[in-house]
Amino acid sequence: MARLTVITGPSGVGKGTLVQRLLARHPQVWLSVSATTRAPRSGELEGQSYFFLTRVAFEQQVAAGGFLEWAEFAGNLYGTPRQPVEAHLAEGRPVLLEIELEGARQVRNTFPDAFQLFIKPPSFAELERRIRTRGTDSTEAIQRRLERAHVELAAEAEFDAALVNGDLEEALAELERRMALS
Ligand code: 5GP
Repeated sequence: MARLTVITGPSGVGKGTLVQRLLARHPQVWLSVSATTRAPRSGELEGQSYFFLTRVAFEQQVAAGGFLEWAEFAGNLYGTPRQPVEAHLAEGRPVLLEIELEGARQVRNTFPDAFQLFIKPPSFAELERRIRTRGTDSTEAIQRRLERAHVELAAEAEFDAALVNGDLEEALAELERRMALS
């Protein structure tokens, strides 16, 4: 089994829900907590959902080599703190990164053995419906996420495998199979 798994897919595809369900069933899997300059959405917790940083603090971390990968997405910066990922891998725990396309490409260079999985929606119309009805993003942010979704969906072939997140239970079972957890 690949120790490091990267999960990528367009905004609104339901990666977060899928990953939370996976963690509930497989507590040995460690999910990396990213840093971001995005403002917290309601209900998001510092250190659990993300480490919420100012742009200056984020850029200091970049300069210090503190991120395994980082990228700009829809106007905000996102990055994977390097140290905890390396520490958990050294302990032999399966590590999961849930990141966007540019970050996945960077990890492909630094961890060529990582298993890279792409999550896709049943259709673009369904993805658009999910992004619009989430109700937490501004009209402008929704527009940027939809544009970015087209770019991400076009990159599916770069990944080791792809799965459709239509029915959640089916997608979860497929994810477990792909990660050799079932
Ligand atoms: P959101 O703002 O919806 O939480 O996340 C926006 C996008 O950023 C999602 O596609 C998510 O997977 C991605 N993302 C979250 N954390 C990271 C990270 O550490 N690095 C990169 N490259 N993307 C991330």
